Amino acid sequence: MLKRVPIFVFLLIIVRTTFAQNADIVIKNANIYTVNKNQPRAQTIALRNDKIIFVGNEQGVKAHIGSKTEIIDAKGKTVLPGFIEGHGHIHGMGASLIDLNLMNVKNWEEIVFLVKEAVKKAKPGDWIIGRGWHQEKWNHVPEVNYLGYPYHQTLDNVSANNPVMLTHASGHSVYVNAKALELSSINNQTINPLGGDIVKDSKGVIVGVLEEKAQGLAIAAYTNWLNKRPIAERKAAWRYSINLAENECLKNGITSFVDAGSTFEQVGWMKELAEENKLSIRHWLMVRDGIEGLKKNQSVFPIQQIGNGHLSVKAIKVSLDGALGSYGAWLLDSYSDRKDFVGQNTFSMEELKEIASFAWDKNLQLCVHAIGDKANRETVNIFANQIAQNPSKDHRWRIEHAQQVNPIEIPRFKQWNIIASMQGIHCTSDAPFVVKRLGEERASTGSYMWRAFMNAGVLINNGTDVPVENIDPFANFYSSVTRKQKDGVPFYPEQKMTREEALYSYTIANAYATFEEKQKGSLEVGKYADLILLSNNIMTCDESEISKTKVLITIVGGKVRYRD
Ligand SMILES: [Zn+2]
Repeated sequence: MLKRVPIFVFLLIIVRTTFAQNADIVIKNANIYTVNKNQPRAQTIALRNDKIIFVGNEQGVKAHIGSKTEIIDAKGKTVLPGFIEGHGHIHGMGASLIDLNLMNVKNWEEIVFLVKEAVKKAKPGDWIIGRGWHQEKWNHVPEVNYLGYPYHQTLDNVSANNPVMLTHASGHSVYVNAKALELSSINNQTINPLGGDIVKDSKGVIVGVLEEKAQGLAIAAYTNWLNKRPIAERKAAWRYSINLAENECLKNGITSFVDAGSTFEQVGWMKELAEENKLSIRHWLMVRDGIEGLKKNQSVFPIQQIGNGHLSVKAIKVSLDGALGSYGAWLLDSYSDRKDFVGQNTFSMEELKEIASFAWDKNLQLCVHAIGDKANRETVNIFANQIAQNPSKDHRWRIEHAQQVNPIEIPRFKQWNIIASMQGIHCTSDAPFVVKRLGEERASTGSYMWRAFMNAGVLINNGTDVPVENIDPFANFYSSVTRKQKDGVPFYPEQKMTREEALYSYTIANAYATFEEKQKGSLEVGKYADLILLSNNIMTCDESEISKTKVLITIVGGKVRYRD
């Protein structure tokens, strides 16, 4: 016998089945690109709590509009899934918003001036930190120079008592003054560390540039100074910088960020922010440590979608070589403009093998930075060796940058299901010196091979490597679809992406590359309400308009986090 069911239960069932859920926010009259192949375009979208509850037309959304629904009239403007920064450095980005920004300086003299001004505000002994210089981008070569680098005496003249450390745009070398050299115990007798170069001129005079692993000497001295500050003070400074970085992301329509190299301490601090619900965008952190550190801290893994899907940590980052601009890319054959020099192998191959085996056993994602063709070959070899144990495993291992590959590597990426984690903007920024460093043959067959990778069925994702480049997604999108350099000349344009491919690489491909394609990366019912409203339709506007696009609204998890 049926028990008597209270009448309100019947009513509740009727109400639930008859009326659709009311939305918190409805965006109507919009030009929506969903990146969902089953429903590529739509006019309205409805959000409730942190999810999408409706995507469709004006008629269909009516059922979701209640008295408390906020209605945003998009006035025909374009809505996209929030961009996912596929490879950046969130901590470095935060620091770059505080330290000297040398990205847009015109020449070395301007850097010297900025350091001089910073010294005026600093206490004696304080480190002066900057980032973003690139000798290839200056309007003239310093008067006295070696390989285009100025000598550190120019900095000593304005900063005798403050150590100065200025990181190259690529992050693969630092420039230091005499005080910093002294604190780093570097002199003419210092032997180059393995995988690094204390650059000396033909007479053996130290220039001031520390390449690749040699950076570690100055960074250790700086860290030593930093660590003398109380931990609470360091953490507060870090929190402040993360907040700045997140705000910059929101302003640029970035709703998720893949960090390519956190320490375990930073993971711990980030976890605290997630647990306090203080993160305003979503983060995926790769941990950068050696095998010993990884084993010691293995209980940290995995962190999965905590803080309402704002933080996950289940990836490991290793850098096998350096960058092309600073002669750090590890090549199969010598640089065309530095004879008998093949770049730097910056990580022990034996240790990488151990890490690969560790990551495989623990079901962690392995992400290896490889720029030169030799570094790419070695990484594919190590990946293949590991993946061969069970080729059907959903590992999603990635090669970060995959910038210069020998053409025979491309089908091997496909064979082993390796993700090519590339950055559109790197191509056009580096283009002016790629042929100089590598020659025409290697450049045309192996540099930034987006089309070749896609044709081979390899997934490529996209990002800016911020703070190596600005986080600006429109500059990156423009580079991806034009491959045009600053002077308008395209760099091997046959490799460029279509706008659809570029959008795909910047959204769902990045979600896939962090195992999160079911939660985000496209605008579909049930996914996180992470989306942006733009001033331009970047999918159809004139090429020259793409970079002028502004983000009008950024929504993360159903909350308006930024409004222009
Ligand atoms: Zn990077």
